[in-house]
Amino acid sequence: MASHHCHRDPLPQGLTPERLRAQRQLCAACAVCCIFMAGEVVGGYLAHSLAIMTDAAHLLADVGSMMGSLFSLWLSTRPATRTMTFGWHRSEWPLCCTRLGPTTATGLGGLSMHRWRRGPRSPCPWGTPVSGQPLSMCWGTSYRALGCWPPPSSSTSRGLSLPQPQCKAADPISTFLFSVCALGSTAPTLRDVLRVLMEGTPRNVGFEPVRDTLLSVPGVRAAHELHLWSLTLTYHVASAHLAIDSTADPEAVLAEATSRLHSRFGFSSSTLQVEQYQPEMAQCQRCQDPPQA
Ligand SMILES: [Zn+2]
Ligand SMILES: [Zn+2]
Repeated sequence: MASHHCHRDPLPQGLTPERLRAQRQLCAACAVCCIFMAGEVVGGYLAHSLAIMTDAAHLLADVGSMMGSLFSLWLSTRPATRTMTFGWHRSEWPLCCTRLGPTTATGLGGLSMHRWRRGPRSPCPWGTPVSGQPLSMCWGTSYRALGCWPPPSSSTSRGLSLPQPQCKAADPISTFLFSVCALGSTAPTLRDVLRVLMEGTPRNVGFEPVRDTLLSVPGVRAAHELHLWSLTLTYHVASAHLAIDSTADPEAVLAEATSRLHSRFGFSSSTLQVEQYQPEMAQCQRCQDPPQA
């Protein structure tokens, strides 16, 4: 087998030119929004216009969204760890989902206020149920695709709606309390979903045991580029480079390592690259294990 070391190129650091340009554009847009927002707050206050001041709050939501994008860009430059073996490149996805939060909160807040003022049985004129139902279905589908149950929907809390006019406050309060309870009960599931979205190391699978198992295969001298992640909560994937002795049989090493990954850790798929061990690997920075966290 010809000698080969896969780390001839240095590890790319920081943001790519495209992302640096996006970062500059986001910073400029943030600054412009802040100037407009300050103008609207002052102008709305002086003109006694609640509408203008409300638009400033809308701009604040936009600024928050852009700040989230800037945070995501920074997060994507964080180095890989043993629980995030690919680094944080996927941080845009969860942050993209959180951007749905203000929209949903605005809709639910408006619905609660409407039902507070008009009563729990009054029809909602804003189409919130129309827009909320597809969103709810999307969430439900995503959860089921990941092998979980969706969180309780708002219709669960509607079961507690009280028909007496004097109890109309109970409806939005019960909706709010159920939302808090639902968030608490689904926190572990949300953590699992984030782990899948971020391509983190599967729950109950440790980086060190997998690495030690690969190193225990006869003929393997070192392992690097070890990546562990999940496609779903039950479909785990592994990939690694195995540096073997010159006397070892690459096919036998590949078969044994694949078998151990499947039987001991339940990996549904594994991709292993077999290389001949090079002394320079001991000094190569990229051949070392990533930090703990
Ligand atoms: Zn390699
Ligand atoms: Zn290397």
